[in-house]
Amino acid sequence: MENCIFCKIVRGEIPANIVYESESVLAFDDVNPMAPVHVVVVPKAHVATLMDVSDKDMMNDMISAVQEVAKIKGIDKRGFRTVINCNEDGGQVVFHLHVHIMGGRKLSDDMG
Ligand code: 5GP
Ligand code: ZN
Repeated sequence: MENCIFCKIVRGEIPANIVYESESVLAFDDVNPMAPVHVVVVPKAHVATLMDVSDKDMMNDMISAVQEVAKIKGIDKRGFRTVINCNEDGGQVVFHLHVHIMGGRKLSDDMG
């Protein structure tokens, strides 16, 4: 998608600190981290929201990427939180599917 910010990161048009990359998935540090570790995992192909996912193989790749990022960031043992915000009530701001990975400290139970 031409003007999608995460598509621009996938295309290398906007800089990002890339944490992990596979054929179908890219993971990079969130620009506004909510925790000591805050990475977003995105499919390289544009998918707007979780409700638009039809390629379940891609979701398998996303989950594999979450596992790899957790190991790379050293939070795999102590744990972390994954979040997928969907549409307005879910607080989604960027309409390119992404999994947030947050960790590096004990997170509160407050889900907003
Ligand atoms: P959402 O609220 O849509 O679930 O989350 C969007 C996330 O993308 C936010 O955590 C925000 O900080 C992050 N973000 C927005 N623009 C950029 C950007 O240009 N670069 C990076 N690395 N993260 C971004
Ligand atoms: Zn996109």
